[in-house]
Amino acid sequence: MESFKRVLRYSRPYWWRIAIAMVGTLCVAGTDGAVAYLVEPVLKRIFSEQDKVIFAVLPLGIIGIFLFRAVCRYLYDYFIVTAGQLAIQDIRNDLYRCNLFLSLRFFSKNSTGALISRTLSDVAVMQEGVATVVTGLLRDGVTVIGLLGIVFYRNWQLAIISFIVIPLTAIPAQRIGKRIKRLSSQSQEMVGGLAAILQETFSGIKVIKAFGLEQREIGRFVSKNLDYYRYVRKTIKYASLSTPIVETITSLGIAAVVWYGGSLVMNGAMTASEFFSFITAMIMLFNPVKKLTGTYNTIQRSVGAAERVFEIIDEKQDIVDGPDAVAVGRISGLVEFRDVSFRYDDEYVLRHISLEARQGEVVALVGPSGAGKSSMVSLLLRFYDPTEGAVLFDGRDIRSIRLTSLLEQVALVDQETILFNDTLSNNIRYGRPGASLAEVEAAARAAYAHDFIMQMPEGYETVIGDRGVRLSGGQRQRICIARAILKDTPILILDEATSALDTESEQMVQKALNNLMANRTTFVIAHRLSTILHADRIVVLDGGRIVEEGTHAKLLERQGLYKKLCDMQFSDQ
Ligand code: ADP
Repeated sequence: MESFKRVLRYSRPYWWRIAIAMVGTLCVAGTDGAVAYLVEPVLKRIFSEQDKVIFAVLPLGIIGIFLFRAVCRYLYDYFIVTAGQLAIQDIRNDLYRCNLFLSLRFFSKNSTGALISRTLSDVAVMQEGVATVVTGLLRDGVTVIGLLGIVFYRNWQLAIISFIVIPLTAIPAQRIGKRIKRLSSQSQEMVGGLAAILQETFSGIKVIKAFGLEQREIGRFVSKNLDYYRYVRKTIKYASLSTPIVETITSLGIAAVVWYGGSLVMNGAMTASEFFSFITAMIMLFNPVKKLTGTYNTIQRSVGAAERVFEIIDEKQDIVDGPDAVAVGRISGLVEFRDVSFRYDDEYVLRHISLEARQGEVVALVGPSGAGKSSMVSLLLRFYDPTEGAVLFDGRDIRSIRLTSLLEQVALVDQETILFNDTLSNNIRYGRPGASLAEVEAAARAAYAHDFIMQMPEGYETVIGDRGVRLSGGQRQRICIARAILKDTPILILDEATSALDTESEQMVQKALNNLMANRTTFVIAHRLSTILHADRIVVLDGGRIVEEGTHAKLLERQGLYKKLCDMQFSDQ
């Protein structure tokens, strides 16, 4: 119930919508009660007393009551649903916000598909719950109370007999509700599994096509989808059972009431019109009672979804500003790893790394794959914090620098050249959102990107990505380099692309990189021989340790791991 209360708390800012809806729903319940009540006097006047005036006014009265009811109903529906949607929108925004601030550790443990499904489908299930509860409980609750009043007022003995049956319905309904909660939270997870497959196949569509594995992927999807259906089928089975069970049990009550009530009328203990008023109220009770039992199931489902959503909202952010973190100005570019050890899970992937880089120095990191190169540079951006030891900029532990300030010191050019579905100028501006077009252009020139950008249909305003033009690998890299040049940080991390470019692109990219690296302390995960040759220092990693360090010539002399790597990697070159 705790998470359900939290969901309701999100509706608080929209209290006036809910208030209007409440008034509307009370009016609807009121008209229902009035109709059931009025059956008695109307029947008595028309049929026993042959009242012509009442008879003439009756049709107008019916239309009037239903018109009033329709307006109230509309107000209620409109305001309650918009309140629910607004609350859900807030939850979704919170979820997204919390998600984005979580560390890479979180993202490496949760699949993209599962996260998407939480943001979209779990939140939608929650919304269903909020709408039903705030609305359904109130409307149906009030209607039930009003109608109960009439039933008891007309004949309390008869009322008691009929309601002996009602509690019997509560027990199976509750059991079924519990079952549904469990099953539906499983089926939500299955949706996550489906989303994960979709995400994987659509982003890996090239490989699937190249290997002609469409059929296999389709088979995988079909079987997951079937698993999903199996779970849903169980939910449906129980959800569908609840109504027939409740109805069947209720029919016993109706039979008993009709039989007993009929005998009261025959004995003259009750008038026929009283009996009809009673029966009308009973019949009108049927719907809201049924809905109330359904509400319970919906709440159970939405609590399951809410728990999954709040789990993320409550996820602890592990990379945050400490209480004494300060903003620093532009640092000079002195970087030190001081006896750094680091692990993702149980096993250390970096052990006792000590390394100092001078201002403007280019440090090439080389080593076999899995040696820890990427892990090492990810500590500079505080994607992760060292398990032991510290990383220092200008002699200051980076954990004592505000994150925003820290990120102003470091630029990352990744081998995955991520560009957003936006204009070229905005993609470059990602480095510094406030930059003027002239600054963007200067950065593009330095990155050797200006010329090809000018050849695009709309120059800097050309939209690239999904909807726009496609760029070659070398062009994408140069855009990313321009982004980093514009950001203009004292420290640079370069994760060189492993895929080979043609000689011309390679030269352009290299020239762009030279402009970018000038006067910046650079850590480069190096794959190109040219980069390695020009590095001030080469650091060789193996198994999370620094095993060799020096210039290219010196390291070759040592005949160690570096020599071996070079022989393997650059034999063609
Ligand atoms: P390199 O960049 O030299 O190839 P990495 O730094 O990527 O090496 O990886 C070092 C080790 O850390 C590897 O054993 C790898 O499996 C492990 N590793 C990398 N990223 C993660 C992660 N997010 N979670 C758990 N282990 C990881």
